[in-house]
Amino acid sequence: MSSSESAENRYRNTIGSIVSWGIFRMALVIGVSLLFAEYVRWIDYSTWAIITLVMLYAAVVHPMQVQYRIYREETLAVMDGTLCSTCKYFEPTGVLCSKLDEHVSEDHIPCEGELWEPE
Ligand code: SF4
Repeated sequence: MSSSESAENRYRNTIGSIVSWGIFRMALVIGVSLLFAEYVRWIDYSTWAIITLVMLYAAVVHPMQVQYRIYREETLAVMDGTLCSTCKYFEPTGVLCSKLDEHVSEDHIPCEGELWEPE
């Protein structure tokens, strides 16, 4: 495995992936809750609202919190104390070098310092 591949596979989440999966899961929850409202006739409005809120927490909010915590843990080393973290091309939300469009890590600096510019 090359150092570039290891940097690509290092992070399970980025801010972009957390938000996109959150939107995807929210669309599913809304779809399921609308089907509930349409086809489950015995359910009253307050029960339906509570079920929808519980589904939103369980399928959207909680997974996003967990993914964000993992993202913070995995990126802690690169966000603090690497050459890239002080560079104007560093994109923290994607842990990415915007100049070379590559993920960076504490042991992988894609430009090897040659393109570094201060923020
Ligand atoms: S230009 Fe070089 S130092 Fe700057 S973020 Fe990209 S890889 Fe890191």
